[in-house]
Amino acid sequence: MPADSPTRPHAPPRLTAQTVRWVHALGLGPLYVRRSVVQQAQTPAPPPAPGVAADPAVAAPAPAPAPAPAPAPAPATPRRAAPSAAEGPDARAAFIARLQWDEFDAAAQACRACKLGSTRQQAVVGCGSTRAQWMIVGEAPGAEEDRQGQPFVGAAGQLLDAMLHAIGLDRAAQDPQHAVYIANVLKCRPPGNRNPAPDEVAQCLPFLQRQIALLQPRLILALGRFAAQSLLGSNAPISQLRGQVHHYAGIPVVVSYHPAYLLRNPVDKARVWRDLCFARNTVESFPETR
Ligand code: URA
Repeated sequence: MPADSPTRPHAPPRLTAQTVRWVHALGLGPLYVRRSVVQQAQTPAPPPAPGVAADPAVAAPAPAPAPAPAPAPAPATPRRAAPSAAEGPDARAAFIARLQWDEFDAAAQACRACKLGSTRQQAVVGCGSTRAQWMIVGEAPGAEEDRQGQPFVGAAGQLLDAMLHAIGLDRAAQDPQHAVYIANVLKCRPPGNRNPAPDEVAQCLPFLQRQIALLQPRLILALGRFAAQSLLGSNAPISQLRGQVHHYAGIPVVVSYHPAYLLRNPVDKARVWRDLCFARNTVESFPETR
């Protein structure tokens, strides 16, 4: 894996009215801002930009929808047959490295390369726009993700959505600048939400590598130790990896805390806010190539 690049300084966040609203939504503050910005933040938010969902920090709370029954997973029918275990790991890696977006789900649902394939309800491939400039990488599906087949839909997912909104991103957006693609290191839930085991990461990483190769994001935001260490081939703790621009296959990678960690350690929200601003500045400082 490429070596880490030197530390860049954190630029202070630009405090617009929308930023102030989202910083409050994240539970951060108090912020010392010009009175005119506070007044703007207290007036109703303007309609969202095309392709961006309405600002949930100011929208009237919608009644919680009754949880939909989990759809039965579609039968896995990859267009090309996955190689058998007897054909060896190289054949499997080559198969995954040629997958197209529309083949991903079937290939992941059919995967039994590690023991999680027999304990999960379904594999959780990813969500968002496959044209997004930002890729968010988490750890592994939890119970709710396993049930719904979508990444980050539990409590950590709600915090992730607030974090993304704070920097103008939205998992429902379609335009590449506001959109994100969200995936995990593991596509299947480790039982009891235990940590991913090294063999599970090794078997699953080719899927994430192929997602990155297909997406070619402008930036990868790696959330938590497993995402950061798996992508960077490093054993360093998050505290050491934060605040630098790393690279994966030539793509800038910024590291921050996992939202589930933040739920347990809300005192670190201010650090995450700095990481998000750093990631935003990093994207803006690299030339747009597509
Ligand atoms: N935590 C993750 O890392 N990913 C999810 O999808 C949900 C929780």
